[in-house]
Amino acid sequence: YLITFEGGEGAGKSTQSKRLYEAFERDGRKVLLTREPGGTKGAEAIRELLLFGGYSFSLRSEIMAHFTARCDHVDQIIRPALSQGYIVICDRYIDSTLAYQGYGLGKGDQDLIQYIKQLSHLIALQPDLTLVFEAPYDVMRERCHARQGRVDRYEQLDENFHYRVLNGFKQIMIDHPNRCVRVDAYRDVEMIHQDVYDIVSRQLFE
Ligand code: C5P
Repeated sequence: YLITFEGGEGAGKSTQSKRLYEAFERDGRKVLLTREPGGTKGAEAIRELLLFGGYSFSLRSEIMAHFTARCDHVDQIIRPALSQGYIVICDRYIDSTLAYQGYGLGKGDQDLIQYIKQLSHLIALQPDLTLVFEAPYDVMRERCHARQGRVDRYEQLDENFHYRVLNGFKQIMIDHPNRCVRVDAYRDVEMIHQDVYDIVSRQLFE
């Protein structure tokens, strides 16, 4: 099973994906935790270039760079793990490209959305389940400000961009109601974890 965690920055995806991973490990399941952009040495190098390289690619080439990283990740890590029976938990995947590049930077341009969907078909590995983490914009922004570390290129973009991204995730949930489950991320970590654990267990193991 491939489970993806999606949502805007500060929604708590990384914390929650780690918690789920630890819970499944305790249950004795074969489980792998990984993230995008990244997950392999080459893909992490592309991540560094995209987020901190100080260069803006043309939008279509930026999308291709995300898919180059993703293809390497799928070929070298995700697909082999799935074929060995692992549950793979991935912090961001194709829906982030749709939300950030398609709806955010591309403002929902339909040609661009189609372009992303075509690349996604070429990768030919869709998630079995996607959790979309949602919290009010101000709450997410506060959490980001409280965070230590480097600020990446996308985090510096204006409020309108971030609203478009969050609306993009809403649209993705509407378009894929069977695959996507919304998680209310405006609660304490433990409650969200319990919810995530229950949703995933119910969908995958029952
Ligand atoms: O998951 P995390 O917050 O570490 O993601 C790193 C950054 O990459 C975020 O700022 C996110 O906005 C950006 N990103 C993006 N397009 C993607 C995936 C991630 O702009 N397709």
